[in-house]
Amino acid sequence: MTALDDDERALVERRKRILGTMGPLFYDRPVHIVRGQAAHLFDASGNDYLDCYNNVACVGHANPRVREAVNDQLGRQDTHSRYLQDEILDYGERLLHSFPDALDRVNFTNSGSESNDLALRMARVYTGHQGVVVTAHAYHGITSLVSSISPSFGTGVPLAPFLATVEVADVLTSKQPESQVRATLKQRFEDAFQKLHDGGFGVSAVLLDQIFSSDGILPGATGWVGDIAQAVHRAGGILIADEVQSGFARTGEAFWGFQRHHADADMVTTGKPMANGIPTGAVIYKHKIGEAFASCTRYFNTFGGNPVSMRAAGAVLDEIEERHLLSHAQKIGEELSAQLLQLLGGTPRFRGIRHAGLFLGIDIGSSDSTSSDPMAARAIISKLRDMFILISSSGPDGSTLKLRPPLVFSSSDVDRFMKACSTLVDEGYFG
Ligand code: PMP
Repeated sequence: MTALDDDERALVERRKRILGTMGPLFYDRPVHIVRGQAAHLFDASGNDYLDCYNNVACVGHANPRVREAVNDQLGRQDTHSRYLQDEILDYGERLLHSFPDALDRVNFTNSGSESNDLALRMARVYTGHQGVVVTAHAYHGITSLVSSISPSFGTGVPLAPFLATVEVADVLTSKQPESQVRATLKQRFEDAFQKLHDGGFGVSAVLLDQIFSSDGILPGATGWVGDIAQAVHRAGGILIADEVQSGFARTGEAFWGFQRHHADADMVTTGKPMANGIPTGAVIYKHKIGEAFASCTRYFNTFGGNPVSMRAAGAVLDEIEERHLLSHAQKIGEELSAQLLQLLGGTPRFRGIRHAGLFLGIDIGSSDSTSSDPMAARAIISKLRDMFILISSSGPDGSTLKLRPPLVFSSSDVDRFMKACSTLVDEGYFG
Protein backbone atom coordinates (compact mmCIF):
# COMPACT_ATOMS: atom_id res chain seq x y z
CA MET A 1 0.00 0.00 0.00
CA THR A 2 1.26 3.49 -0.82
CA ALA A 3 1.19 5.75 2.24
CA LEU A 4 -1.32 8.55 2.74
CA ASP A 5 -0.02 11.96 1.70
CA ASP A 6 -0.37 14.96 4.04
CA ASP A 7 -3.65 16.20 2.50
CA GLU A 8 -5.25 12.74 2.72
CA ARG A 9 -4.15 12.29 6.34
CA ALA A 10 -5.61 15.71 7.23
CA LEU A 11 -8.91 14.78 5.57
CA VAL A 12 -9.09 11.45 7.43
CA GLU A 13 -8.46 13.27 10.73
CA ARG A 14 -11.09 15.89 9.91
CA ARG A 15 -13.60 13.15 9.12
CA LYS A 16 -12.90 11.50 12.48
CA ARG A 17 -13.39 14.81 14.30
CA ILE A 18 -16.74 15.43 12.60
CA LEU A 19 -18.22 11.96 11.97
CA GLY A 20 -16.57 9.99 14.76
CA THR A 21 -15.40 6.45 14.16
CA MET A 22 -18.68 4.51 13.82
CA GLY A 23 -18.59 4.39 10.04
CA PRO A 24 -15.25 3.03 8.84
CA LEU A 25 -13.91 3.94 5.42
CA PHE A 26 -13.12 1.55 2.59
CA TYR A 27 -9.47 0.69 1.86
CA ASP A 28 -6.29 1.02 3.88
CA ARG A 29 -5.67 4.16 1.87
CA PRO A 30 -9.12 5.79 1.59
CA VAL A 31 -10.22 7.26 -1.76
CA HIS A 32 -11.16 10.95 -1.97
CA ILE A 33 -13.88 11.06 -4.64
CA VAL A 34 -14.94 14.33 -6.24
CA ARG A 35 -16.93 13.23 -9.30
CA GLY A 36 -18.04 10.25 -11.35
CA GLN A 37 -19.11 9.20 -14.80
CA ALA A 38 -20.57 5.86 -15.95
CA ALA A 39 -18.42 3.18 -14.21
CA HIS A 40 -15.64 5.61 -13.30
CA LEU A 41 -14.91 7.74 -10.27
CA PHE A 42 -12.37 10.56 -10.18
CA ASP A 43 -10.38 11.81 -7.22
CA ALA A 44 -9.23 15.31 -6.39
CA SER A 45 -6.05 14.85 -8.44
CA GLY A 46 -8.00 13.69 -11.49
CA ASN A 47 -7.12 10.00 -11.19
CA ASP A 48 -9.63 7.76 -12.99
CA TYR A 49 -10.80 4.88 -10.78
CA LEU A 50 -12.55 1.95 -12.40
CA ASP A 51 -15.57 1.34 -10.18
CA CYS A 52 -16.17 -2.40 -9.97
CA TYR A 53 -18.09 -2.15 -6.74
CA ASN A 54 -20.93 0.39 -6.59
CA ASN A 55 -24.37 -0.98 -7.35
CA VAL A 56 -26.20 2.14 -6.17
CA ALA A 57 -25.22 4.11 -9.26
CA CYS A 58 -26.63 1.23 -11.29
CA VAL A 59 -27.21 3.26 -14.47
CA GLY A 60 -23.85 4.96 -14.05
CA HIS A 61 -22.41 7.76 -11.93
CA ALA A 62 -23.76 11.24 -12.77
CA ASN A 63 -26.34 9.76 -15.13
CA PRO A 64 -27.70 12.66 -17.24
CA ARG A 65 -31.24 11.28 -17.47
CA VAL A 66 -31.53 10.90 -13.69
CA ARG A 67 -30.09 14.38 -13.20
CA GLU A 68 -32.59 15.93 -15.62
CA ALA A 69 -35.55 14.15 -14.00
CA VAL A 70 -34.48 15.32 -10.52
CA ASN A 71 -33.84 18.90 -11.67
CA ASP A 72 -37.16 19.08 -13.44
CA GLN A 73 -39.09 17.76 -10.44
CA LEU A 74 -37.28 20.02 -7.98
CA GLY A 75 -38.50 22.93 -10.09
CA ARG A 76 -42.10 21.73 -9.69
CA GLN A 77 -42.73 20.41 -6.19
CA ASP A 78 -41.30 17.92 -3.72
CA THR A 79 -43.59 17.27 -0.82
CA HIS A 80 -44.84 14.15 0.94
CA SER A 81 -47.27 11.52 -0.23
CA ARG A 82 -50.38 12.58 1.70
CA TYR A 83 -51.57 14.48 -1.33
CA LEU A 84 -52.72 13.08 -4.63
CA GLN A 85 -49.63 13.03 -6.81
CA ASP A 86 -49.07 11.66 -10.29
CA GLU A 87 -45.38 10.88 -9.75
CA ILE A 88 -45.87 8.21 -7.07
CA LEU A 89 -48.73 6.60 -8.98
CA ASP A 90 -46.96 6.63 -12.34
CA TYR A 91 -43.84 5.08 -10.88
CA GLY A 92 -45.71 2.68 -8.57
CA GLU A 93 -47.66 1.35 -11.53
CA ARG A 94 -44.51 0.85 -13.58
CA LEU A 95 -42.70 -0.85 -10.73
CA LEU A 96 -45.59 -3.25 -10.06
CA HIS A 97 -45.58 -4.11 -13.73
CA SER A 98 -42.16 -5.73 -13.27
CA PHE A 99 -43.61 -8.23 -10.74
CA PRO A 100 -45.86 -11.27 -11.04
CA ASP A 101 -49.56 -10.28 -10.83
CA ALA A 102 -49.93 -11.51 -7.23
CA LEU A 103 -47.47 -8.87 -6.00
CA ASP A 104 -49.90 -6.03 -6.56
CA ARG A 105 -49.24 -3.31 -3.98
CA VAL A 106 -46.25 -1.11 -3.14
CA ASN A 107 -45.28 1.29 -0.36
CA PHE A 108 -42.23 3.49 -0.52
CA THR A 109 -39.44 4.03 1.99
CA ASN A 110 -35.99 5.66 1.92
CA SER A 111 -33.66 2.69 2.32
CA GLY A 112 -33.29 -1.06 2.30
CA SER A 113 -33.30 -1.08 6.11
CA GLU A 114 -36.62 0.74 6.30
CA SER A 115 -38.05 -1.59 3.68
CA ASN A 116 -37.03 -4.71 5.61
CA ASP A 117 -38.23 -3.20 8.88
CA LEU A 118 -41.67 -2.51 7.43
CA ALA A 119 -41.84 -5.89 5.69
CA LEU A 120 -41.11 -7.76 8.94
CA ARG A 121 -43.72 -5.76 10.82
CA MET A 122 -46.29 -6.47 8.12
CA ALA A 123 -45.41 -10.17 8.14
CA ARG A 124 -45.96 -10.32 11.88
CA VAL A 125 -49.35 -8.67 11.76
CA TYR A 126 -50.45 -10.81 8.81
CA THR A 127 -49.31 -14.15 10.23
CA GLY A 128 -49.83 -13.44 13.92
CA HIS A 129 -46.37 -14.93 14.59
CA GLN A 130 -43.03 -13.41 15.67
CA GLY A 131 -40.25 -15.74 14.54
CA VAL A 132 -37.88 -14.84 11.71
CA VAL A 133 -35.43 -17.03 9.78
CA VAL A 134 -32.40 -15.67 7.88
CA THR A 135 -29.16 -17.16 6.55
CA ALA A 136 -26.21 -17.56 8.92
CA HIS A 137 -24.24 -14.49 7.75
CA ALA A 138 -27.08 -12.34 6.52
CA TYR A 139 -27.16 -8.55 6.48
CA HIS A 140 -30.54 -6.86 6.23
CA GLY A 141 -29.95 -3.37 7.60
CA ILE A 142 -29.56 -1.01 10.51
CA THR A 143 -32.84 -0.35 12.31
CA SER A 144 -33.23 -1.83 15.77
CA LEU A 145 -35.39 -4.68 14.50
CA VAL A 146 -33.46 -5.40 11.34
CA SER A 147 -30.01 -5.23 12.94
CA SER A 148 -31.21 -7.76 15.54
CA ILE A 149 -31.87 -10.27 12.75
CA SER A 150 -28.59 -9.55 10.88
CA PRO A 151 -25.90 -11.96 12.13
CA SER A 152 -23.19 -10.30 10.02
CA PHE A 153 -23.02 -7.39 12.48
CA GLY A 154 -20.90 -9.63 14.68
CA THR A 155 -21.07 -9.83 18.44
CA GLY A 156 -21.71 -6.10 19.07
CA VAL A 157 -25.40 -6.33 18.23
CA PRO A 158 -27.29 -8.99 20.22
CA LEU A 159 -29.38 -11.19 17.98
CA ALA A 160 -33.11 -11.38 18.66
CA PRO A 161 -34.46 -14.35 20.65
CA PHE A 162 -37.09 -14.82 17.91
CA LEU A 163 -34.39 -15.36 15.27
CA ALA A 164 -33.26 -18.69 13.82
CA THR A 165 -30.38 -18.83 11.36
CA VAL A 166 -29.54 -21.37 8.68
CA GLU A 167 -26.08 -22.05 7.23
CA VAL A 168 -26.35 -22.22 3.44
CA ALA A 169 -22.86 -21.37 2.12
CA ASP A 170 -21.31 -24.81 2.72
CA VAL A 171 -24.02 -26.55 0.71
CA LEU A 172 -24.33 -23.92 -2.02
CA THR A 173 -20.58 -23.90 -2.70
CA SER A 174 -20.31 -27.70 -2.61
CA LYS A 175 -20.27 -29.95 -5.65
CA GLN A 176 -23.34 -31.87 -4.51
CA PRO A 177 -26.07 -32.57 -7.06
CA GLU A 178 -28.87 -30.00 -7.02
CA SER A 179 -31.42 -32.50 -5.65
CA GLN A 180 -29.15 -33.09 -2.63
CA VAL A 181 -28.61 -29.35 -2.12
CA ARG A 182 -32.35 -28.76 -2.16
CA ALA A 183 -33.10 -31.62 0.24
CA THR A 184 -30.42 -30.51 2.73
CA LEU A 185 -31.49 -26.86 2.73
CA LYS A 186 -35.17 -27.71 3.04
CA GLN A 187 -34.40 -29.88 6.07
CA ARG A 188 -32.30 -27.12 7.68
CA PHE A 189 -35.06 -24.55 7.26
CA GLU A 190 -37.66 -26.97 8.60
CA ASP A 191 -35.43 -27.52 11.65
CA ALA A 192 -35.28 -23.73 12.11
CA PHE A 193 -39.08 -23.50 11.92
CA GLN A 194 -39.36 -26.23 14.54
CA LYS A 195 -36.95 -24.35 16.81
CA LEU A 196 -39.09 -21.20 16.56
CA HIS A 197 -42.28 -23.15 17.21
CA ASP A 198 -40.65 -24.83 20.22
CA GLY A 199 -39.61 -21.41 21.52
CA GLY A 200 -43.22 -20.20 21.33
CA PHE A 201 -42.51 -17.62 18.61
CA GLY A 202 -44.05 -19.33 15.60
CA VAL A 203 -42.82 -18.36 12.14
CA SER A 204 -43.70 -15.01 10.62
CA ALA A 205 -41.15 -14.86 7.82
CA VAL A 206 -38.12 -16.21 6.07
CA LEU A 207 -36.15 -13.18 4.86
CA LEU A 208 -33.64 -14.03 2.14
CA ASP A 209 -31.17 -11.84 0.25
CA GLN A 210 -31.63 -13.26 -3.25
CA ILE A 211 -27.89 -13.26 -4.07
CA PHE A 212 -26.72 -14.04 -0.50
CA SER A 213 -24.17 -11.26 -0.78
CA SER A 214 -22.90 -11.29 2.81
CA ASP A 215 -22.93 -15.11 2.98
CA GLY A 216 -20.27 -15.08 0.24
CA ILE A 217 -22.29 -14.45 -2.98
CA LEU A 218 -24.13 -17.69 -3.68
CA PRO A 219 -25.99 -17.60 -6.95
CA GLY A 220 -25.41 -21.36 -7.53
CA ALA A 221 -28.30 -23.74 -7.34
CA THR A 222 -31.67 -22.20 -8.07
CA GLY A 223 -34.93 -23.88 -7.16
CA TRP A 224 -34.21 -24.28 -3.47
CA VAL A 225 -35.64 -20.85 -2.59
CA GLY A 226 -38.93 -22.01 -4.15
CA ASP A 227 -38.84 -25.05 -1.83
CA ILE A 228 -38.37 -22.75 1.15
CA ALA A 229 -41.31 -20.58 0.03
CA GLN A 230 -43.56 -23.64 0.14
CA ALA A 231 -42.12 -24.85 3.43
CA VAL A 232 -42.53 -21.48 5.18
CA HIS A 233 -46.14 -21.30 4.03
CA ARG A 234 -46.75 -24.71 5.59
CA ALA A 235 -45.11 -23.43 8.80
CA GLY A 236 -47.53 -20.47 8.92
CA GLY A 237 -45.16 -17.75 7.65
CA ILE A 238 -44.31 -15.93 4.45
CA LEU A 239 -41.28 -15.48 2.20
CA ILE A 240 -39.77 -12.01 1.94
CA ALA A 241 -37.29 -11.60 -0.91
CA ASP A 242 -34.66 -8.99 -0.03
CA GLU A 243 -33.76 -7.53 -3.43
CA VAL A 244 -31.65 -4.66 -2.12
CA GLN A 245 -28.58 -6.30 -3.69
CA SER A 246 -30.05 -8.57 -6.34
CA GLY A 247 -32.85 -6.47 -7.83
CA PHE A 248 -33.08 -4.11 -10.80
CA ALA A 249 -31.42 -6.37 -13.40
CA ARG A 250 -28.30 -6.98 -11.32
CA THR A 251 -28.29 -10.76 -11.59
CA GLY A 252 -28.76 -10.85 -15.35
CA GLU A 253 -31.25 -13.61 -16.04
CA ALA A 254 -34.27 -11.87 -14.55
CA PHE A 255 -35.11 -8.40 -13.37
CA TRP A 256 -35.55 -9.69 -9.79
CA GLY A 257 -33.41 -12.25 -8.01
CA PHE A 258 -36.36 -14.30 -6.73
CA GLN A 259 -37.44 -14.82 -10.34
CA ARG A 260 -34.14 -16.65 -11.01
CA HIS A 261 -35.17 -18.94 -8.18
CA HIS A 262 -38.73 -19.36 -9.49
CA ALA A 263 -39.88 -18.65 -5.94
CA ASP A 264 -43.34 -17.49 -4.91
CA ALA A 265 -42.31 -14.45 -2.83
CA ASP A 266 -45.06 -12.89 -0.72
CA MET A 267 -43.20 -9.64 -0.25
CA VAL A 268 -40.19 -8.02 -1.87
CA THR A 269 -37.96 -5.32 -0.42
CA THR A 270 -35.64 -3.06 -2.33
CA GLY A 271 -33.51 0.06 -2.03
CA LYS A 272 -29.93 0.79 -3.11
CA PRO A 273 -30.03 0.95 -6.95
CA MET A 274 -33.64 2.04 -7.20
CA ALA A 275 -33.06 5.75 -7.86
CA ASN A 276 -29.34 5.75 -8.69
CA GLY A 277 -28.31 7.37 -5.40
CA ILE A 278 -31.40 9.37 -4.43
CA PRO A 279 -32.47 7.58 -1.19
CA THR A 280 -35.43 5.44 -2.23
CA GLY A 281 -36.73 2.04 -1.14
CA ALA A 282 -39.91 0.03 -1.50
CA VAL A 283 -41.91 -2.87 -0.12
CA ILE A 284 -43.93 -4.76 -2.71
CA TYR A 285 -46.51 -7.20 -1.41
CA LYS A 286 -49.65 -9.23 -1.96
CA HIS A 287 -52.64 -7.01 -1.14
CA LYS A 288 -54.05 -9.28 1.56
CA ILE A 289 -50.89 -8.71 3.64
CA GLY A 290 -51.28 -4.95 3.39
CA GLU A 291 -54.97 -5.13 4.23
CA ALA A 292 -54.22 -7.05 7.43
CA PHE A 293 -51.62 -4.42 8.43
CA ALA A 294 -53.93 -1.49 7.57
CA SER A 295 -56.72 -2.99 9.65
CA CYS A 296 -54.76 -2.38 12.86
CA THR A 297 -52.13 0.25 12.14
CA ARG A 298 -51.00 2.67 9.46
CA TYR A 299 -47.81 3.62 7.70
CA PHE A 300 -46.72 7.12 6.85
CA ASN A 301 -43.17 7.86 5.84
CA THR A 302 -42.43 11.57 5.33
CA PHE A 303 -39.87 11.17 2.60
CA GLY A 304 -40.95 7.78 1.25
CA GLY A 305 -42.33 8.08 -2.29
CA ASN A 306 -41.53 11.79 -2.62
CA PRO A 307 -41.86 13.05 -6.19
CA VAL A 308 -38.14 13.68 -6.70
CA SER A 309 -37.30 10.10 -5.71
CA MET A 310 -40.08 8.80 -7.92
CA ARG A 311 -38.86 10.75 -10.94
CA ALA A 312 -35.27 9.58 -10.35
CA ALA A 313 -36.50 6.00 -10.02
CA GLY A 314 -38.52 6.35 -13.23
CA ALA A 315 -35.41 7.54 -15.05
CA VAL A 316 -33.55 4.46 -13.78
CA LEU A 317 -36.23 2.18 -15.26
CA ASP A 318 -36.05 4.11 -18.55
CA GLU A 319 -32.30 3.63 -18.67
CA ILE A 320 -32.47 -0.08 -17.82
CA GLU A 321 -35.10 -0.67 -20.49
CA GLU A 322 -33.76 1.50 -23.29
CA ARG A 323 -30.14 0.49 -22.85
CA HIS A 324 -31.08 -3.18 -22.41
CA LEU A 325 -29.11 -3.34 -19.17
CA LEU A 326 -30.60 -6.67 -18.12
CA SER A 327 -29.14 -8.53 -21.11
CA HIS A 328 -26.03 -6.34 -20.90
CA ALA A 329 -25.46 -7.40 -17.27
CA GLN A 330 -25.85 -11.01 -18.32
CA LYS A 331 -23.43 -10.67 -21.24
CA ILE A 332 -20.73 -8.60 -19.51
CA GLY A 333 -20.97 -10.71 -16.34
CA GLU A 334 -20.41 -13.83 -18.41
CA GLU A 335 -17.47 -12.22 -20.24
CA LEU A 336 -15.83 -11.07 -17.02
CA SER A 337 -16.36 -14.34 -15.21
CA ALA A 338 -15.01 -16.45 -18.11
CA GLN A 339 -11.88 -14.29 -18.46
CA LEU A 340 -11.24 -14.34 -14.71
CA LEU A 341 -11.57 -18.11 -14.63
CA GLN A 342 -9.12 -18.42 -17.51
CA LEU A 343 -6.58 -16.09 -15.88
CA LEU A 344 -6.88 -17.20 -12.26
CA GLY A 345 -8.00 -20.83 -12.72
CA GLY A 346 -4.61 -22.44 -12.20
CA THR A 347 -3.24 -20.03 -9.60
CA PRO A 348 -2.55 -21.45 -6.11
CA ARG A 349 -4.73 -19.03 -4.13
CA PHE A 350 -7.79 -19.31 -6.39
CA ARG A 351 -10.56 -21.33 -4.75
CA GLY A 352 -13.49 -20.64 -7.04
CA ILE A 353 -15.59 -18.04 -8.79
CA ARG A 354 -19.36 -17.58 -8.76
CA HIS A 355 -21.51 -15.08 -10.55
CA ALA A 356 -24.98 -14.14 -11.67
CA GLY A 357 -25.14 -11.24 -14.08
CA LEU A 358 -22.88 -8.46 -12.83
CA PHE A 359 -22.45 -9.82 -9.30
CA LEU A 360 -19.25 -11.83 -8.91
CA GLY A 361 -17.47 -13.51 -6.01
CA ILE A 362 -13.93 -14.93 -6.15
CA ASP A 363 -12.76 -17.06 -3.22
CA ILE A 364 -9.17 -16.44 -2.13
CA GLY A 365 -7.23 -19.07 -0.24
CA SER A 366 -3.96 -19.73 1.52
CA SER A 367 -0.87 -20.39 -0.62
CA ASP A 368 -1.77 -24.09 -0.88
CA SER A 369 -5.46 -23.25 -1.27
CA THR A 370 -6.48 -25.52 1.61
CA SER A 371 -8.17 -22.78 3.63
CA SER A 372 -9.67 -19.34 3.02
CA ASP A 373 -7.33 -16.36 3.43
CA PRO A 374 -8.92 -12.99 4.22
CA MET A 375 -5.50 -11.29 4.52
CA ALA A 376 -4.57 -12.35 1.00
CA ALA A 377 -7.94 -11.06 -0.24
CA ARG A 378 -7.29 -7.78 1.52
CA ALA A 379 -3.83 -7.47 -0.05
CA ILE A 380 -5.39 -7.95 -3.51
CA ILE A 381 -8.07 -5.32 -2.83
CA SER A 382 -5.47 -2.88 -1.54
CA LYS A 383 -3.13 -3.42 -4.48
CA LEU A 384 -5.99 -2.94 -6.96
CA ARG A 385 -6.96 0.26 -5.18
CA ASP A 386 -3.42 1.53 -5.66
CA MET A 387 -3.88 0.75 -9.37
CA PHE A 388 -7.12 2.84 -9.33
CA ILE A 389 -9.46 -0.13 -9.40
CA LEU A 390 -12.18 -0.41 -6.76
CA ILE A 391 -13.49 -3.76 -5.49
CA SER A 392 -14.25 -5.09 -2.00
CA SER A 393 -14.86 -8.37 -0.19
CA SER A 394 -17.67 -10.44 1.27
CA GLY A 395 -18.33 -13.71 3.04
CA PRO A 396 -18.16 -14.72 6.70
CA ASP A 397 -14.41 -14.02 6.97
CA GLY A 398 -14.05 -11.51 4.12
CA SER A 399 -12.06 -13.86 1.88
CA THR A 400 -14.37 -13.58 -1.14
CA LEU A 401 -13.52 -10.77 -3.55
CA LYS A 402 -16.74 -8.96 -4.42
CA LEU A 403 -17.37 -7.30 -7.78
CA ARG A 404 -20.65 -5.51 -8.38
CA PRO A 405 -20.06 -2.62 -10.77
CA PRO A 406 -22.60 -0.17 -12.20
CA LEU A 407 -24.69 -2.04 -14.80
CA VAL A 408 -23.21 0.16 -17.53
CA PHE A 409 -19.81 -1.55 -17.09
CA SER A 410 -18.41 -1.91 -20.61
CA SER A 411 -16.17 -4.35 -22.47
CA SER A 412 -13.31 -1.86 -22.28
CA ASP A 413 -13.88 -1.69 -18.49
CA VAL A 414 -13.56 -5.49 -18.46
CA ASP A 415 -10.29 -5.19 -20.42
CA ARG A 416 -8.87 -2.69 -17.95
CA PHE A 417 -9.83 -4.85 -15.00
CA MET A 418 -8.34 -7.97 -16.57
CA LYS A 419 -5.09 -6.17 -17.36
CA ALA A 420 -4.78 -5.16 -13.72
CA CYS A 421 -5.51 -8.72 -12.55
CA SER A 422 -2.89 -10.03 -14.93
CA THR A 423 -0.31 -7.70 -13.33
CA LEU A 424 -1.34 -9.01 -9.90
CA VAL A 425 -0.86 -12.60 -11.06
CA ASP A 426 2.63 -11.71 -12.38
CA GLU A 427 3.47 -10.07 -9.05
CA GLY A 428 2.45 -13.20 -7.09
CA TYR A 429 -0.74 -11.94 -5.40
CA PHE A 430 -2.52 -15.16 -6.39
CA GLY A 431 0.38 -17.36 -5.22
N1 PMP B 1 -30.48 -5.77 2.67
C1 PMP B 1 -29.34 -6.11 2.05
C2 PMP B 1 -29.22 -7.46 1.42
C3 PMP B 1 -28.28 -5.21 2.01
O1 PMP B 1 -27.14 -5.56 1.41
C4 PMP B 1 -28.42 -3.93 2.62
C5 PMP B 1 -27.32 -2.90 2.56
N2 PMP B 1 -26.05 -3.32 2.35
C6 PMP B 1 -29.63 -3.64 3.24
C7 PMP B 1 -30.63 -4.57 3.24
C8 PMP B 1 -29.82 -2.32 3.93
O2 PMP B 1 -29.97 -1.30 3.00
P1 PMP B 1 -29.66 0.23 3.40
O3 PMP B 1 -28.21 0.34 3.63
O4 PMP B 1 -30.16 0.99 2.21
O5 PMP B 1 -30.47 0.54 4.60
